[in-house]
Amino acid sequence: MTGLELAVELVGVRRRYGEGAVAVDALRGVDLSIRSGEFVVLLGPSGSGKTTLLNIVGGIDSATDGTVRVAGHDLAGLDADALAEFRRTCVGFVFQFFNLIPTLTARENVALIAELVERSDRSADLLRAVGLGDRLDHFPAALSGGEQQRVAVARALAKEPQVLLCDEPTGALDLDTGRQVLSLLRHVNREEGRTVIVVTHNQVIARMADRVVRLHGGSISGDEAIIDPLGAEALEW
Ligand code: ADP
Ligand code: MG
Repeated sequence: MTGLELAVELVGVRRRYGEGAVAVDALRGVDLSIRSGEFVVLLGPSGSGKTTLLNIVGGIDSATDGTVRVAGHDLAGLDADALAEFRRTCVGFVFQFFNLIPTLTARENVALIAELVERSDRSADLLRAVGLGDRLDHFPAALSGGEQQRVAVARALAKEPQVLLCDEPTGALDLDTGRQVLSLLRHVNREEGRTVIVVTHNQVIARMADRVVRLHGGSISGDEAIIDPLGAEALEW
């Protein structure tokens, strides 16, 4: 993939939850194009529609209206099997609360995903790459929050996804471990050329992005390129 290709293209995307008097318009017509290889921070207050947008891009929720193209797939045109295949192979997810399986070791959590997507098991290498070479056989409960999140990043990378979707990945971490995780995401973006979208309500994180897209009340309220992004280590919050 070259940087000219679009990893994500949203046109007129709407998402309404519920009906009638209780309907909530989580997204109100979002147009957004993200080039392959970009590191984008999607910034907005709680309830602005960030998670909804990320879930639609990841194929775990669907738009009520509009066009969603991700990694060359038009998601509205996919049947359930093709959508499952898209989720398995094209996108990786990193969540706020890590979501590791507590009864599996770090290595098993990563290997499970590799097996699911029929990729060769590189779990030990992936865990070494995220700095956890000495924690391979630890269970999540024996790992710090930052370590668990690094396992979650390794797990997402086991899919070799074109697009990495991260929903408040530092939301449950302290400053230092949060910076380590962001630094890792930046590394994955630069070294492996993966498109990374980080959703956050934390303004400070925007300073490390190539581009900051602001969401407000389900609409995009700002979209700016960052000319001189900071290294994650330099962020303070
Ligand atoms: P953010 O991630 O920015 O906090 P969300 O995308 O989670 O925002 O939510 C946007 C809006 O959509 C909120 O008003 C939220 O309550 C509503 N919402 C999200 N998911 C659902 C759902 N499954 N059912 C009903 N309302 C929802
Ligand atoms: Mg959210």
